[in-house]
Amino acid sequence: MIRYELRCANGDQFEAWFGSIADYDKQAEAGLVECPHCGSTHIEKAPMAPAVVTGRAKDARAERAVAMAMAAKVREHIKDNFDYVGDRFADEARRMHSGESDERAIWGEATPEEARELAEEGIPASPLPPELAPATPPKRLN
Ligand SMILES: [Zn+2]
Repeated sequence: MIRYELRCANGDQFEAWFGSIADYDKQAEAGLVECPHCGSTHIEKAPMAPAVVTGRAKDARAERAVAMAMAAKVREHIKDNFDYVGDRFADEARRMHSGESDERAIWGEATPEEARELAEEGIPASPLPPELAPATPPKRLN
């Protein structure tokens, strides 16, 4: 676990925990890191070295609790702010990228093949770890 001191566009400073440096980068890029004070997702690292916590047994439970609480927050954020597009994710990402549909935050499923194609086409998409994915909404009939 890595602790970052973060700062939002409104100058609030807060601390947040991430599984790794890559986790932070991924979540920040996807707009999933949110200021607990004002809800801004324009977040940058405060100028301070990340504190790396070694996983000693006595700390492990507390770390896990922090991680679970964060994962729950992220799931909630995605559920409230992202549009679930199911297996149309790759199509929808492409349509937004080409300007055919309005840019918005979406999440859904893509096959490894589709994910690779999106990356090759330079379309931004990040894999969502299963623990961060909200429950899939019920299928709509259409
Ligand atoms: Zn803020």
